[in-house]
Amino acid sequence: MTRSSEEIIQQTDYFGANNYKPLPIVVSKAEGIWVEDPEGNRYLDMLSAYSAVNQGHRHPRIIQALKDQADRVTLTSRAFHNDQLGPWYEKVCKLTNKEMALPMNTGAEAVETAIKATRRWAYDVKGVEENKAEIIACVGNFHGRTMTPVSLSSEEENQRGFGPLLPGIKIVPYGDTDALREAITENTAGFLLEPIQGEAGIIMPPEGYLKEAYEICQENNVLFIADEIQAGLGRTGKMFACDWENVEPDVLILGKALGGGVFPISCVVANEDILGVFNPGSHGSTFGGNPLASAVSLASLEVLEDEELAERSLELGSYMLEELQSINNPIIKEVRGKGLFIGVELTEHARPYCEQLKEKGLLCKETHDNVIRFAPPLIIEKEDLKWAIDKIKEVL
Ligand code: PLP
Repeated sequence: MTRSSEEIIQQTDYFGANNYKPLPIVVSKAEGIWVEDPEGNRYLDMLSAYSAVNQGHRHPRIIQALKDQADRVTLTSRAFHNDQLGPWYEKVCKLTNKEMALPMNTGAEAVETAIKATRRWAYDVKGVEENKAEIIACVGNFHGRTMTPVSLSSEEENQRGFGPLLPGIKIVPYGDTDALREAITENTAGFLLEPIQGEAGIIMPPEGYLKEAYEICQENNVLFIADEIQAGLGRTGKMFACDWENVEPDVLILGKALGGGVFPISCVVANEDILGVFNPGSHGSTFGGNPLASAVSLASLEVLEDEELAERSLELGSYMLEELQSINNPIIKEVRGKGLFIGVELTEHARPYCEQLKEKGLLCKETHDNVIRFAPPLIIEKEDLKWAIDKIKEVL
């Protein structure tokens, strides 16, 4: 017997740790851009699991890859080779124009990996004195919830009760190249940033920032590390958000849509002079690089390319941005974004508006209290997007 949404929510709230505050909706089925609750109500997914479902829910090609691989082998650990990891390595390296990749499972783990690589690079290659390496990160950043990302955060609430934090971290204002220049010392190993800040509320850096920050890093022998876990893989209308300023980061971190919303996989890609610092035993993960994730990820990347999802995001995103910017309502402070990665900043709490949008069949989630993020799957058709925009106009 199907249980009601109410029963499921009660059970979830009763037994689950209290570390999330979801909207009161249960998703029991999904396909493409649509999700459905146990009562049969349908909603258009405007969040895409924080951009993990760029390819749409249960994309047939990705699900087929999952099923085919599940029938052959799912896990070997890295004690042995598997026949899916090699093809995936080649695919991800060619896509990113890098020499090496290192697979993990979640975004936070990939960030940990990037920081480990950067620190070791500082000691082994740059010549920083042992245990003196520094990482510079940005105000408002979000790099995950494990201890390194938490230590990198500029938000007290992310850190409260979790100390002692990781040392060797400096925080500079996002978008401020002078502050970056001033923060760099001979011990600086890397500068980590999101090319567009997602969790902070779709914060766009000033034009030219990525390029200038990259050049400052180059001049000072500091690694430019881009966390494209949320903004990468087509979301902003380019394959990578750094492409907007023709910047090729030294270290690129990917996750979320890398597994098509079907299986967790994340990675760090860089050239050999950086990722080559790892030797056997210095880093790894039991599930990292498993054949199931590799097969699913390969299919997910092929879908992104073959269906030209970055181009779709650019075209439909420009249309949506224009439409939302035309709404005349004094509570709207700003509408901003790139591609189908759009934030509507309000002068008041965004949550009640998300709840009203849910009543109209649109699922979205507030971020940073007063911003509504609109990030539908990139496979969305213009007609469906138009329907969604009409609903947003009714609420705002
Ligand atoms: N980095 C960015 C930019 C993110 O948006 C996120 C997740 O929202 C993460 C890292 C952490 O990824 P995960 O939740 O898979 O650990």
